[in-house]
Amino acid sequence: MSTTISAAVLRGEPGPEPDFARLSVEQVRLDEPGDGEVLVDVHFASLCHSDLSVLTGDRPRPLPMVLGHEAAGVVARTGRSVTEVCPGDPVVFTYVASCGRCGFCRDGRPVLCSRAHAGNTAGELAAGGRRLRDADGEPVHHHLGVSAFAERAVVDAASVIPVPAGTDLRTASLLGCAVSTGVGAVVNAARVGLGESAAVFGCGGVGLAAVLGLRAVGAAPIIAVDRHDAHLERALELGADLALHADESTAERIREATGGGAHHAFEAAGAVAAVESAYRGLRRGGRLTMVGLANPAARWPVPPAELVAHDVTVSGSYLGSGVPRRDVPRYAALHGAGRLPVDRLAASTSIPLSEVAEGMARLHAGFPGRIVIDIAARGARSA
Ligand SMILES: [Zn+2]
Ligand SMILES: [Zn+2]
Repeated sequence: MSTTISAAVLRGEPGPEPDFARLSVEQVRLDEPGDGEVLVDVHFASLCHSDLSVLTGDRPRPLPMVLGHEAAGVVARTGRSVTEVCPGDPVVFTYVASCGRCGFCRDGRPVLCSRAHAGNTAGELAAGGRRLRDADGEPVHHHLGVSAFAERAVVDAASVIPVPAGTDLRTASLLGCAVSTGVGAVVNAARVGLGESAAVFGCGGVGLAAVLGLRAVGAAPIIAVDRHDAHLERALELGADLALHADESTAERIREATGGGAHHAFEAAGAVAAVESAYRGLRRGGRLTMVGLANPAARWPVPPAELVAHDVTVSGSYLGSGVPRRDVPRYAALHGAGRLPVDRLAASTSIPLSEVAEGMARLHAGFPGRIVIDIAARGARSA
């Protein structure tokens, strides 16, 4: 048995310039949830640079694929042996369906789960296989075990995190990726302290979430750096103390504003020039945390002697280096208490699924903040 749904399918091969017409809404068949899987009605899904990276080829994935991984919805049906959620439960998707049994999970690092990583790379669900087929009956790949640019999704039960009834799902859709990555980098990876200075490079969804996280933990000053003035304006609105248009003098200006260099820098632009500026703007003993995904071919020359002499830490952080099942409900609760205004990351109006390709083009052009798809706005679901 299967259901017909509308979903945004990416086809073809990446070229030198992004071709957004490769992403279009099709009618696809979705299987019923199998053992350990759930069927979710997707309510809201937002556009993330990781979706864009598949389209541009910076993050090569098997195609065709239904994109989308940052989303929230309501459980419609559960397969056998699912105990964590019931039909009617509001859930946030997580793109690491951690198994709880591999070496990384046992180490308390579920975002590094080897089972989830293998599934995500293959474009399959964590337990293997695909649940999507196109009109010709050909299998379609899943994006990060989720594929949320669709009316419905069948995912591993470990790909959903229940949130309290009454949670605003539009805001909740941001929690699984942008918020987890940006806030998690601040609180889990860098463990920023009260009154420590921090510079955030790249103020898209993840960078802006880092600004919110820095506000929440009492960092000061918070310096936003970006090439787009609209992004800098958003960062100031969300609580950055100073906004710097990125150029060759960025590191020097950070050093001036922080009395010799920042305690922390967060690189969320995925660009080597930003990594270099972020590193140069640190004080001795400072810490650079990288969350932006650069092109896999990019290289950054690190001076080893300086790392030692300056006692500098350079680290990566994947999905906030945290525990999504612990962190996502925390972020939802902090938002509910008015202490983490993550709703302000999103643009004030949503787009319908039919405009997903235009939305991706706007994201690529530097749209400030998250673009959210209101999936239900498209009309009645096919049953
Ligand atoms: Zn994402
Ligand atoms: Zn695992």
